Amino acid sequence: HLSKRLETVSEHVEPGSRLADIGSDHAYLPIHLAKNKQISYGVVGEVAKGPIANAINEITKENLLDLLHPRLADGLAAIKNDDRIDTITIAGMGGILISRILEQGKEKLTGRERLILQPNVGEDVVRTWLMQHQYRIKTEQILEEDHHIYEIITAVKSQQPVHYTAQQLKFGPYLLQEKSPVFIAKWLEERRQLQRVVMNMKRAVHEDRLKIQKIEQQIEEINEVVN
Ligand code: SAM
Repeated sequence: HLSKRLETVSEHVEPGSRLADIGSDHAYLPIHLAKNKQISYGVVGEVAKGPIANAINEITKENLLDLLHPRLADGLAAIKNDDRIDTITIAGMGGILISRILEQGKEKLTGRERLILQPNVGEDVVRTWLMQHQYRIKTEQILEEDHHIYEIITAVKSQQPVHYTAQQLKFGPYLLQEKSPVFIAKWLEERRQLQRVVMNMKRAVHEDRLKIQKIEQQIEEINEVVN
């Protein structure tokens, strides 16, 4: 019963990985990976008591407590040195929160981990954090499920400085090259919403010219990509 979104995240986990899934909620992703023998070890991190209780329940039910280690902790604090984690998944939250978890947990990162990140919104914030911390994006995927569009970004630490243009940060370097139908649909919808905002602002008694200009600029950035 794994969602297409989490199924797709799971496909980026290499066989035999030592995984930390941060913000795991019911632990569906690590349970799926453990049952398919895709991981040899898993840390299941949760900051909230309800979700960690759910995780413990599910892991117990599946008889996987020897493989999966549920921990109540804030972000990467769930990871201990002797876990020898090589893969970190953070899925189903906003890009700002994902970036904050990475930033606050920086000293836990050895630079050898593969990061698999699935922000629900604010993908540009995640890409900017990765660039600023010398992570190179390895793959990007975009998919639609239940009328939501999701992006999955994987990254590894680079030996050299990493640079992405503003356009690449916003749209995704690989997604931009690929321009899949789902990608086009996402940005056409985004443009439609921005156009509606501009229209309403222009109808207002006191139109905020600066704000309108800013949004028109955003629309122009989308036009350059979808047209
Ligand atoms: N990763 C699962 C998925 O993709 O379906 C669950 C996503 S759920 C919407 C987000 C989870 O992240 C919540 O259970 C929340 O408690 C947890 N969370 C939020 N901030 C966190 C933090 N700083 N550290 C660990 N978990 C966190």
